[in-house]
Amino acid sequence: MDPQHDHYSDDDDKPREECGVVGIYGDPDASRLCYLALHALQHRGQEGAGMVTVHNKVLKSITGIGLVSDVFNESKLDQLPGDMAIGHVRYSTAAGSSSILKNVQPFVANSKFGSFGVAHNGNFVNYQLVRAELEEKGSIFSTTSDTEVVLHLIAKSKARSFVLRVLEACERLQGAYSMVFVTEDGKLVAARDPFGFRPLVMGRRSNGSIVFASETCALDLVEATYEREVHPGEVVLVDDTTKEIQSMYLLRPHPPKPKSCIFEHIYFAQPNSIVFGRSVYESRYAFGEILATEAPVEDCDVVIAVPYSGVVAALGYAAKAGVPYQQGLIRSHYVGRTFIEPSQKIRDFGVKLKLSPVKAVLEGKKVVVVDDSIVRGTTSSKIVRMLKEAGAKEVHMRIASPPIIGSCYYGIDTPRTQELISNRMNVEEIRKFIGAHSLAFLPSDSFRKLLGSDYNNFCYACFTGKYPLNPTAPMEESIDDK
Ligand code: SF4
Repeated sequence: MDPQHDHYSDDDDKPREECGVVGIYGDPDASRLCYLALHALQHRGQEGAGMVTVHNKVLKSITGIGLVSDVFNESKLDQLPGDMAIGHVRYSTAAGSSSILKNVQPFVANSKFGSFGVAHNGNFVNYQLVRAELEEKGSIFSTTSDTEVVLHLIAKSKARSFVLRVLEACERLQGAYSMVFVTEDGKLVAARDPFGFRPLVMGRRSNGSIVFASETCALDLVEATYEREVHPGEVVLVDDTTKEIQSMYLLRPHPPKPKSCIFEHIYFAQPNSIVFGRSVYESRYAFGEILATEAPVEDCDVVIAVPYSGVVAALGYAAKAGVPYQQGLIRSHYVGRTFIEPSQKIRDFGVKLKLSPVKAVLEGKKVVVVDDSIVRGTTSSKIVRMLKEAGAKEVHMRIASPPIIGSCYYGIDTPRTQELISNRMNVEEIRKFIGAHSLAFLPSDSFRKLLGSDYNNFCYACFTGKYPLNPTAPMEESIDDK
């Protein structure tokens, strides 16, 4: 992914997941299954999509800008034969369309030991250093994506098999990665960084074919049964010799030390997914219940959500508070990113285009509105104003995550730290800024209560500022040390 943090879009004033990946092994319908799985992961990236299949020892690749359904059609899928595939959906607003297209994955490389492709979700924090060293040794880069360093590291490796080359490359990289690879000689490799920041799961279809995907919602759509996660620090190989998976673990730069991204449970993942071994729906519902207990609103009339990301937490809040949940805000399904603003004069136009208040639910009511997070606070203030204009007597905002005080360096696009409202203001100042009658965030000790013994296996850095991996980690040794 693009490692810079200068392309944050305030389209929804939310952090953005940067990618989703898929890998299919041993299925005659690999490209169609991959297409469906990418479609299920569309929420993880809408700017570009791509797929690579392997047929008769040749890699075929199609990538494009836009949604999965924009990039692929029947005839494109017919051009992608073979029984193995990897795919990628990507988010970025980084640059002009030509640059975006160049950065759309999977990437394919031709090396002295054959062609291979990679799809990556995450962000290498030592990318600049590795790239500089590689360039010094003569490597030529053709994209601005950090993922390209993996191709160069693998191509330079002298290890005897592909999976060992991947393992060696991973040992040189620091940061977040969930990656899938295919090779022209029929190998599929999946790898996850030792912290396991980003998710990656594995499932199997009834015909024995194996599916890797960022989330289980993709397995569901292709009728694959969820087996397990690819573990943090695990490199998994599937090939023709056994038709079964072979697994090995990274010991460098350090052994597995899980720090899974808690934000997947707060906002990024689909509620119907199992992520890091837990139901996303159950997590969000519990966050809402905790909020209702810790930050109740006396005599409130109705609980509503900021759709869709706040819905499950709002249901939990309403159930715990014993107050009806209603749809006080409706989200438009049809807002495209290219919609042209007809007039600067229409106040809060962007938000109004997406969200519409329901007067029948709001008029004269004391309303609790639940959202998953506040980033810059700009959208929240527009929502509060919209609810008041629709007749709400009081608006009490409840946020199903703690205040975000730091940027993410592990594959999530967030604004710079100084742009985060919780980094500049305390809760009361934010309440005033957004114009709510009251405001409460999820207490940060809620995670400990909810996750129990699993608590230490998660990353909370954007809420605590305590980063499990130095965002500007230097390389511990030269890439040519070996
Ligand atoms: S910093 Fe926040 S968004 Fe980034 S991996 Fe950690 S918990 Fe997830």
